[in-house]
Amino acid sequence: MGLLKFKKFIQYHLRHQPVNHPAQEHELGIVRLGYNPIEFKNSLWRVSNSFEVRERIRIAFQGSEYPIFEVRLGSSRESAPRLFILSGIHGNEEGGILAVPVILERLREQPQLVSKVNVRILAPVNPVGAYNHSRYNASGHDINRDFVNFRTPEARLIRLLFDEYKPDFVLSLHEGPQRGTFMFANACVPATMALALVEALQRAHVELAERDYFGRRLDPPGLAVATWPSQALVAAWARYFHMMTVHEYAARRGIPEITLETSWRSGEWYNRILPHVELVLELLKQLGSWVQE
Ligand SMILES: [Zn+2]
Repeated sequence: MGLLKFKKFIQYHLRHQPVNHPAQEHELGIVRLGYNPIEFKNSLWRVSNSFEVRERIRIAFQGSEYPIFEVRLGSSRESAPRLFILSGIHGNEEGGILAVPVILERLREQPQLVSKVNVRILAPVNPVGAYNHSRYNASGHDINRDFVNFRTPEARLIRLLFDEYKPDFVLSLHEGPQRGTFMFANACVPATMALALVEALQRAHVELAERDYFGRRLDPPGLAVATWPSQALVAAWARYFHMMTVHEYAARRGIPEITLETSWRSGEWYNRILPHVELVLELLKQLGSWVQE
């Protein structure tokens, strides 16, 4: 492990508040896609005649306010499985944020895709970070480490939605430094479902990662599942460092969660946006099949 990697490992995994503002990190090799909050908001308003779009909360930073949007769509039947999608908890992972308007356009064109599933989307979960192209929120916290202490308003909002919405499945859209796309599936995701999702990405010609960003070989490519050693590490991390991701927070509630990671090193729309879109479409298909006819 090189010194930079080691420093980043400590920064990302052992410090609650690595910086005190939404700092940019230029050494990570992130290719920018050009997230623009005005364009993003307009793209959500464009679909607001089909779906319920609203500002859920606003995060204040340096005299301005940055909204987190909530989109509600799909079946309103009580028996419909509930899918909760979190986009942009790390503000500099633009692929998962810019995929949201594309996903919504696709679902508007093909409403039958959400006829059996209830969907709720939060985007961007870290609006100050997204505006500043930062992993961190306004106070320099990594929101996706805050699911023990809940010091950030963004993590508290997600906790509120877990309680209020009671999702049956959670999907978090992320990006990372690895080559290609992969997903972490927590222990609650049925193995056959995880494999079907990876196969769907393969059919869409998504380049699947051979290794995750810790360097572990993925078998099959594109899929990282919870193992005994990884679960023990995550438990110790929560217990001794009080750090937890949404992925583990969901697992402890018995809720399946998938964290999708596309490669932030690519400037290609195809590699950055498409995997998020395809995964959501396949997940809707899979969740729809849970419903008894
Ligand atoms: Zn991330």
